[in-house]
Amino acid sequence: MCLTIRRTCVCGREEAQFMHRDNILPKSILVNLYCPSCRSQASWDGDCMTEDNGWVLEFDIEGARFLMWHKGLLDEVTPDFIFDQGYCSWNGMTPHDLEERAILHAELAPLLNQDRLAYINALKTTMLERVHDLKAAGWRKAQNI
Ligand SMILES: [Zn+2]
Repeated sequence: MCLTIRRTCVCGREEAQFMHRDNILPKSILVNLYCPSCRSQASWDGDCMTEDNGWVLEFDIEGARFLMWHKGLLDEVTPDFIFDQGYCSWNGMTPHDLEERAILHAELAPLLNQDRLAYINALKTTMLERVHDLKAAGWRKAQNI
């Protein structure tokens, strides 16, 4: 089960939702989260940081390696690996994906009472457009969809 974990960025302006695949890594594995406004405060270190569309994630990479090896995961553990394989990654495709999807669902909800098929089609179109937009915007998790 993947629980949603909410994290606030270093400047406190933004909150992101995370999921941790198989709950192997604890919340503390993400040492710092920088939003596009506060990423300038991060001194970039590719050994423990990765980046997605302006956001910077700083991991306790030694801790992650220890925990993953302990679980028998013998892959090379890098910040990209942790993020791309979902061991500590956005819950959804972006930091706010779940909230934004919920808003889109709510906007279409009135249609559900009028015409169920139209609702389903509108939802499908809206979600496809959304994935297309996220992909074009450069979000990593949207690239392989
Ligand atoms: Zn920030």
